Amino acid sequence: MEDKDSVSWNALIAGYLQNGLTQESLQLFRQMQHEGCEPSIIATTSVFMACAELSALPLGQEAHCYALKVGFTADTFLGSSIIDMYAKCGSIEHARTFFDNLKDKDAVSWTVMITGYGINGFGGEAIDLYNEMEGHGLKPDAFTYLGILMACNHAGLVEEGLRYFEDMKNKHGLEPKLEHYACVADMLGRVGKLAEAARIIEDMPEEPDGRIWSALLAACRTHGDICLGERVIEKLLELEPDKAEHYVLASNLYASSGRWDGVRRIRNRMKEIGLQKDPGFSWIDVGGRVFDFVSGDNRLPESEEIHRMWCSLEEKIRGIGYVPDTSSVLHEKGEEEKLKMLRGHSEKQAISFGLLKTSGNKKIRVCKNIRICRDCHNAAKLVSKVVGREIIVRDNKRFHHFRDGWCSCDVSCPPSSSEFPHVNPKVGCRYFRSPSSSRGRRSGRPADVTIGRFLTSAAASNWPVPSHQPVLLVVEPG
Ligand SMILES: [Zn+2]
Ligand SMILES: [Zn+2]
Repeated sequence: MEDKDSVSWNALIAGYLQNGLTQESLQLFRQMQHEGCEPSIIATTSVFMACAELSALPLGQEAHCYALKVGFTADTFLGSSIIDMYAKCGSIEHARTFFDNLKDKDAVSWTVMITGYGINGFGGEAIDLYNEMEGHGLKPDAFTYLGILMACNHAGLVEEGLRYFEDMKNKHGLEPKLEHYACVADMLGRVGKLAEAARIIEDMPEEPDGRIWSALLAACRTHGDICLGERVIEKLLELEPDKAEHYVLASNLYASSGRWDGVRRIRNRMKEIGLQKDPGFSWIDVGGRVFDFVSGDNRLPESEEIHRMWCSLEEKIRGIGYVPDTSSVLHEKGEEEKLKMLRGHSEKQAISFGLLKTSGNKKIRVCKNIRICRDCHNAAKLVSKVVGREIIVRDNKRFHHFRDGWCSCDVSCPPSSSEFPHVNPKVGCRYFRSPSSSRGRRSGRPADVTIGRFLTSAAASNWPVPSHQPVLLVVEPG
């Protein structure tokens, strides 16, 4: 096309983004500027959406600077996409600061901020903000309710969550959709109310999808309910027989209770239909470059150093109770071999790399294309404690904010407030405050990251993690 105007560029960039070609949409944005076409608000919004999808914080910040420079940030629509970008990059403080400074907030801006708290595990803040929104006379819609249900799920606030679920129908006449049911079922499943969760799923008006059953299966594994788990496996594999992650989850359920016959049966089923486990990979942005890692990786010049770093971290965390959980290794191998495989997991490499390459109290932000395994989850909690740094992992289900030996998705309470001094005693152990929380400051305690719980499937569907290896994304100095 000879004369491309901003309308044709917008259409092209949005088209790439909608088709999952996130990196390409960002390249187009740059090309548009190179060719002398001034990006419009719509094109700039697409950039924020792409950054949110990639969890590319430095690039998102660069785009934010650009939007400020050209005077776009007062736009309510673009503003919401900035809040969303910061929240999905795990930088909830920046999301809140921008939200507070946004002059014209509409119901969408409030909803995006509430959902941001929800996906990051700040249940308390989400509820406070929801109440504030209602106080401003704004009407919540189905999306607002999804955000608040995620937040309740995350914070383990089951009673409140069920009340909001009822309010949605009775107070606002909104018909819950699949995502809302998924959230409520997950909330019940995660606190061990498995039978109630199963009942909600079986009674829902729509046909439950694979994500809902998969969340229930994960809960069965956590709470060791093999009996219900087996029923769920059958439903799940009947519904989506070619999704490798379901087989992995099923195999994990059997392995965690030593049912090796079950593990073999599942693995054979996978073999019969020629299904391969999705390769797990993690990536981290260091100095504006994205580095990716696959399990057992040694492609980087720093691979040897990364391995040594992990071994030294492992030694330290063993000193405070780390016991490697080899049930995360599905292969039938010797114990030593399993330990070696565990050490090579991509998220451990990415965390080690982040610690090697950054200093001070900078947060370590890692993304993973599949669910973080149980062993890496335990290890990351303890690493956050021994190095005194916050580690944020975004997997394909949720954010994990690891801090001081705990994760924002933990269901159990910290042992005592003296060992974990950030508990807000007024509202219970599952109701923590974020660093920006005024309530945290009032109580005179160091404000802390929220500890709580949050759903999965509904949010996961909003986070299209790239299914391919991310290419190196070089950020031009802004
Ligand atoms: Zn792992
Ligand atoms: Zn977690």
